[in-house]
Amino acid sequence: MRKKQFKAESKKLLDMMINSIYTHKEIFLRELISNASDATDKLYFKSLTDDSIKADKDSLKIRIDLDKENRTIKVSDNGIGMSAEELENNLGTIAKSDSLDFKKENADDDNAKDIEVIGQFGVGFYSAFMVADKIEVVSKAVGADVANKWSSTGVDGYTVEECEKDSNGTVITLYLKEDTENENYSQYLEQYKIQELVKKYSDYIRYPIVMEMSKEVPDPEKEGEYITEVNDEVLNSQIPLWRKNKNEIKPEEYNDFYKQKFYDYADPTLVIHSKVEGQATFDALMYIPSVAPMDFYSKNYEKGLQLYSNGVLIMDKCSDLLPDYFSFVKGLVDSADLNLNISRETLQQDHQVRIIAKAIDKKIKSELAKMLKNDREKYEGFFKTFGTNLKWGVYADYGMHKDGLKDLIMFKSSNGDGYTTLKEYVERMADSQDTIYYACGDSAEKIALLPQCEGVKAKGYEILYFTDEVDEFAIQMLMDYDGKKFANICKDDLDLSTDAEKEALSKKNEDAKELLEKMKNILGDEVSSVKLTDKLGSHAVCLSAEGYVSLEMAKVLSQMPG
Ligand code: ADP
Ligand code: MG
Repeated sequence: MRKKQFKAESKKLLDMMINSIYTHKEIFLRELISNASDATDKLYFKSLTDDSIKADKDSLKIRIDLDKENRTIKVSDNGIGMSAEELENNLGTIAKSDSLDFKKENADDDNAKDIEVIGQFGVGFYSAFMVADKIEVVSKAVGADVANKWSSTGVDGYTVEECEKDSNGTVITLYLKEDTENENYSQYLEQYKIQELVKKYSDYIRYPIVMEMSKEVPDPEKEGEYITEVNDEVLNSQIPLWRKNKNEIKPEEYNDFYKQKFYDYADPTLVIHSKVEGQATFDALMYIPSVAPMDFYSKNYEKGLQLYSNGVLIMDKCSDLLPDYFSFVKGLVDSADLNLNISRETLQQDHQVRIIAKAIDKKIKSELAKMLKNDREKYEGFFKTFGTNLKWGVYADYGMHKDGLKDLIMFKSSNGDGYTTLKEYVERMADSQDTIYYACGDSAEKIALLPQCEGVKAKGYEILYFTDEVDEFAIQMLMDYDGKKFANICKDDLDLSTDAEKEALSKKNEDAKELLEKMKNILGDEVSSVKLTDKLGSHAVCLSAEGYVSLEMAKVLSQMPG
């Protein structure tokens, strides 16, 4: 048997393929399973047009076998298989993807609608050399009489020879590398590890992925003792919930999926399931949690949605899919037309992601607006948990996103105990009122007691109570709502008085000039001026800020780092 050599450049290329393109060694399993799934899809596709090929859908599966003693992992499929020539072409040529050719050739075939070939770069297979120092591929093409074995230790080249195999399909055997100080390859011989990796990356492969699992069960013969039971188990869920029709999914199914996938104990407040076709075609399944995630307010919290391509996990937290003000949203996006990076761990360009992100942003906003309209109580619950985030969203990016958000934010006000939106406030405004009044403080109760409130309320005007640090910042970004300016009743010149009243006041100030000057001298630099005002009702004095920044904003700004 003659050993064939990779060309010099190919060697380097292969070395790069193996050692440089992937960040996570563990994705080797995802790649092998994806290939097995593709091979199975191809067989199924062929069986639809070729009567001589039988593919019983129920018997199509992918198997994983672990052998600790020999340090091997086997991934087997009963798919289309490869001939000797195909083994050479597909596994001996770097970046040759037969799967991509297949997809292109059959793009217009109606039968191909049912299948989802994953491969495209022709390099995934080699990722197995990250964890194995030798790989054997035994394969028999469907309808062929002979089987062949491809064998390689990596950059040194490969051999192909005839061998025995009963039925069509492919068995790939990885001989795992020895552990090193930094790398634990033995973990891939553990059932739980493989189970975890299948769940993580390949849960929605549409064929069952089967592995022998051992379980400790009570010994039926001896009480109090346990025996090990070994059974084949299907490791993947196969059907992506988000691909099902909305009307076929029960609320519990949505909720269970959420709790299991995103490790929450409580049902979500809102489920958003959307299928989008157009500039970008994708399915999205998103959730708004009912409780803030444990680490939500910590630096460690990472926003993002899971990103799938044809049911295979590409990124666990794609942060570009969510704006910061929706960082609490959990969920996933699945799209067949993503421009994947060759490692399939990231995206090559973010154009599609931007389109998807925009659509998602719009969708979440409209779903929240719907909830606000149809289920006020629920919305207020949501707002108590995550509302501050939305207000920061109004403030951030110079209010770029304010349009969708400004109607989603709420405040307490002098109009009863509940929350009010800006729209509701404006609807209640008196004809004579052209300004939206607000006051800042630690709590609605404290604000209500402010001396300045009296005068404004006496005029019959409602006051928004700003109790969140961000409130006033957000409002300043908004500039106005529905053409109505905002005024801080403790700072701004409210101009509530008539001309006659103004004149009387200025006369009073003139008359009391000496007294006011004395007071100012006593207070020194603590205040910039002392004035008589007609803003106060039963109160004697109040403090007032001048200029752009209010007392509350100054407090927040002084606490900010830097
Ligand atoms: P890709 O999947 O992107 O095409 P890979 O390096 O993963 O690239 O695989 C290269 C090619 O090898 C595939 O296109 C396919 O033709 C072939 N191949 C790999 N694994 C199998 C398998 N289990 N059964 C049949 N063909 C396979
Ligand atoms: Mg592949």
